[in-house]
Amino acid sequence: MGFEQNIRRVEPYVAGEQPEDKDIVKLNTNECPYPPSPALIRRAEQLSMQQLRLYPDMNAGKLVDALAAYYQVRPSQVFAGVGSDDVLSLSFMTFFHSDRPVLFPDVTYSFYDVWAQLHGIPYELCPLDENFCIRREDYLRPNGGIIFPNPNAPTGILESVDTIEEIVRKNQDSVVIIDEAYIDFGGESALPLVDRYENLLIVQTFSKSRALAGLRIGFAIGSEKLIGYLKDVKFSFNSYTLNLPSIELGAAAVADDAYFRETVNKIIRTRERTGAELAQLGFSLTDSRANFLFVSHESVPAAELFAALRQNRIYVRHWNRPRIDNHLRITVGTDEQMERLLAFLKNYLKNRKGV
Ligand code: PMP
Repeated sequence: MGFEQNIRRVEPYVAGEQPEDKDIVKLNTNECPYPPSPALIRRAEQLSMQQLRLYPDMNAGKLVDALAAYYQVRPSQVFAGVGSDDVLSLSFMTFFHSDRPVLFPDVTYSFYDVWAQLHGIPYELCPLDENFCIRREDYLRPNGGIIFPNPNAPTGILESVDTIEEIVRKNQDSVVIIDEAYIDFGGESALPLVDRYENLLIVQTFSKSRALAGLRIGFAIGSEKLIGYLKDVKFSFNSYTLNLPSIELGAAAVADDAYFRETVNKIIRTRERTGAELAQLGFSLTDSRANFLFVSHESVPAAELFAALRQNRIYVRHWNRPRIDNHLRITVGTDEQMERLLAFLKNYLKNRKGV
């Protein structure tokens, strides 16, 4: 077929499954197991659908103002998009426009190499050390930009703000993006650095700690300069991204800080309790500061456990990739969900030969 020669071909990112069956213990995509804030649900009930005939505010002003007030920055330092995937993809397009390679870890969010390929951006992988930690020196050479999640995914490992500051300070000729999708689960954010470094962009999401994966809200905070460039690209691509209900409900979610903190603390407690129990069963774990655990069993291969769990309607995540193919990533669910996981694993390991 001649026409296919002119088509852009990409190998897409593969997201975790979204099964229809509500009975499945779904621990595969790092969603929040608790509902969104009751204040948001009340606001949703008041929303008039008559308004939907109008285009939404293309600046998502209400949401941007709420975020600016919450994080104590100016509204001109905030950019909102359709999930952090949207914000990150636009950021690749905007900030990584160099012949030099963009740097990110070899084990990391597997969308980064997809965006680099989609946007034609050269990139180089920086191998994490044997404990899955970043080697700072890898990021202190000429580059066309830097990005990594903190805590990292799927390892859950948190880097210090000191490490981030050194990388940002020593790379003033490129933009450094810290993807803080999981920062609310016990990590220290690098946000305070944005006032000192114009080349730093922090990206966060409502999908995990704010229990709103279905609403699709992500945002970036950085210098006015970076946010200005990001808006220019966005308005050259698609002006109306966030829809009207997302803007309204996102702002309502930000206002309910007490519920946010309570939810996050419940997840942290369940993470710590489940981690201790998994260790008793012969799993080794990274020190995850995210809403998931990254585990490997001393004698049973991860691929086998993944399949056995799946057959028993417990969904977790496994990647057939170098260095992590013997690991499972398990989202922290409710205590009841974790009980089902632990009960199954206990029983499975007890009955399996060779354990
Ligand atoms: N960054 C990281 C590290 C993630 O794991 C995810 C979730 N898949 C995202 C960004 C994107 O999340 P969302 O688009 O739902 O904000």
